[in-house]
Amino acid sequence: MKMKQLQAVIATLFLASAAHAAPAFDDKFRQLDELLPTATDTRTASGAPGHRYWQQRADYRLRATLDEDKRAVTGSGTVTYYNNSPDTLSYLWVQLDQNMFRADSDNRRISTLPSREAWQVRGNSGGNDGVKFDTLRSTLAQRGFEGGIQVTSLTGSDGRALRHTVNKTMMRIDLPQPLKPGARVSFNMAWTFNIPEANVVGRRTGFEKFDDGNDIYLTAQWFPRMAAYYDVKGWQNKQYMGDGEFTLEFGDYDVQLTVPADHVVASTGELQNANAVLSAVQRQRLEQARSARKPVVIITQAEAEAAEKGRSKATKTWHFKAKDVRDFAFASSRKFIWDAQAIKSGNKDVLAMSYYPKEGNPLWERYSTAAVIHTIEQYNKYSFDYPYPTAISVNGSIGGMEYPMISFNAGRPAKDKKTGELTYAKSTKYGLISVIIHEVGHNYFPMIVNSDERQWTWMDEGMNSFLQFLAEEAWEDNYPSRRGEARNIVDYMRSTNQVPIMTNAESTIQRGNNAYAKPAAALNILRETILGRELFDFAFKEFSERWKFKRPTPADFFRTMEDASGTDLDWFWRGWFYTTDAVDISVDGVTEYTVSSKDPEIEKAWARARKQEEPISITDQRNKGMERRVDRFPELKDFYNENDDFTVTNKDRNKFNETMAGLEDWEKALLKEGKHLYLVDFSNKGGLVMPLIVEITTQSGKKYIERIPAEVWRYSPKKITKLFVTDEPIVSLVQDPYWETADIDVSNNAWPAKAVPSRLELFKTERDPATGNLMRDAKTRLAPVKTPDAAKKAE
Ligand SMILES: [Zn+2]
Repeated sequence: MKMKQLQAVIATLFLASAAHAAPAFDDKFRQLDELLPTATDTRTASGAPGHRYWQQRADYRLRATLDEDKRAVTGSGTVTYYNNSPDTLSYLWVQLDQNMFRADSDNRRISTLPSREAWQVRGNSGGNDGVKFDTLRSTLAQRGFEGGIQVTSLTGSDGRALRHTVNKTMMRIDLPQPLKPGARVSFNMAWTFNIPEANVVGRRTGFEKFDDGNDIYLTAQWFPRMAAYYDVKGWQNKQYMGDGEFTLEFGDYDVQLTVPADHVVASTGELQNANAVLSAVQRQRLEQARSARKPVVIITQAEAEAAEKGRSKATKTWHFKAKDVRDFAFASSRKFIWDAQAIKSGNKDVLAMSYYPKEGNPLWERYSTAAVIHTIEQYNKYSFDYPYPTAISVNGSIGGMEYPMISFNAGRPAKDKKTGELTYAKSTKYGLISVIIHEVGHNYFPMIVNSDERQWTWMDEGMNSFLQFLAEEAWEDNYPSRRGEARNIVDYMRSTNQVPIMTNAESTIQRGNNAYAKPAAALNILRETILGRELFDFAFKEFSERWKFKRPTPADFFRTMEDASGTDLDWFWRGWFYTTDAVDISVDGVTEYTVSSKDPEIEKAWARARKQEEPISITDQRNKGMERRVDRFPELKDFYNENDDFTVTNKDRNKFNETMAGLEDWEKALLKEGKHLYLVDFSNKGGLVMPLIVEITTQSGKKYIERIPAEVWRYSPKKITKLFVTDEPIVSLVQDPYWETADIDVSNNAWPAKAVPSRLELFKTERDPATGNLMRDAKTRLAPVKTPDAAKKAE
């Protein structure tokens, strides 16, 4: 710390703080207008749907049969498409996402892994490149699997065939007459496809094989779905390559699913024919569940275990209806245990339900339905009341995938092969609760706030991961959340090879970090550090309410958050969403000032004390006690040997009195205030501007925090000097004491600098003399070769 005395008036300090100017000025607060689309009457500048907002609609009446022997689905049905746009359409695009599973799809041709490094996982043996058994199995199975959808018929409402062209994962239907604004068109289709094995070739859908001969079917993308047509995009023409999820229109569904008679079906929608497919006991238990405070078992584990021993050749047809959903998925198996519990959502009753095989217990019976209910309770607080009649969690081998009202969630205990004992890791337990919260949470984003997933992964995954974090916080203290806390994104923010959050879904590298974790952390920082909870929660809820059952774009979100919080956040969106900059704010230096009293008695004594604080020079130290000439001949001493430079003279006193006479009373008061003034230099090394959060500790041990808005960087984005005024001397100062800004280097955050404590392991260098000792290994050729059986016994 440099000590200086200030002779100037306090006002000049404020000038000093703006004196640094960066050579190339990079305005971090430049408005986003150049990046955001111009507001229209469909999407306003405030971020709300405009007075001419429109969206298309598609209603589906479908029938499908699950063929358990062939592991195939055969379907047929009618789609009614409503053209609510102001445009005349001469063709329709339909999504055939099953075509991603064709051996010749872009996904398969581009390859399953993106890089040489991803393939060359170091194997266990010999230092050769390795590849996981799973990876090679998938690669080979993908080549052999006859996936993809066969459209076997496509006719208009008059029964005549419709001309159509399949382009990879999409199909264009040419309309005999152009579809006018406000008009609707119906067409009929029939199709069939082989179901992929989820663990091997499937993604987001497929079957899982069990050793007992049964399957669990998690069935999705199982019918031709209308592609989205909307105001800022026209037809969403991005093919399904595997990463970018789905962009769909809302509609009503009437679906009849024919499955083996001993299967249980969990599905989007409400069951219409319980009498035909459920036993009297099951119906009665389901009725109990509607008023229970804990999950009620509809199918017990014993009943499921009995069912999985059979294999009915007969079939049953389950009939479901769903209103205002953008998709429809179902699960089917005879292995399912089933439990249910009702929850109030606003004025609606929602039935939370779970379906899982015995292999899922004891985790699933304890946590699944509880997690579904917890999700609805928590998400309702921050967005809107869950509007659908059911919310379902199904256990299968799909790691976590969402559909309207129904989600597929992996995660089971481990079974000891010898004892049969079931245990589970901490990560399995919390992983399961988290994945259920996440996938059920997707009902809100994007199943209801229907963002374009194929364009922007972060809009649903980031917002959902953020709310997931809030829900996890409400589950238990110290919940091991992976994403949401600012500190959890630091490693990623420090890494190289990033793309901005505003990157298309198919081009987003490090998807988990960039589309889930970073936006979740950014929104949490916006809530806790930038806006505060009250303003943030109001604005986020406003966005959710504005866009439920509609399709928002990123601009609608950015604009609504600013509009509803009354805050210009362009700098925040620009930095966090459009760049790969990180937060690294450094405390570079501190200068302390106290105000000069102008009184020569005080000031000269002060200057003398400073002089005496200077270290004694090495020469003076060594010359201490040396006899000098003036000691030997004292007559050589005069006035200057008695008085130092700091002696107060009457001239000084007169000058002081004159000065004081010329000062106003308020000016005199300031001289006596006794304040301590600090000029603190901060530099922005990471690129992102953020608020300064400065924890100050003063001499008496008092600690307090000053929060300075990010706009402190507006005139000088790289380096600033900030004035702090305190009543007593500052002994230390820490920038971002709670790690709330995701600062990637905290070693430069403190004054005085602090050492970062860490542990160093000492170890011996050892060369194993046995390694590579062929001579010794060869001697064991006389020992018996161990067969796998012998090895097993020895275990
Ligand atoms: Zn997700």
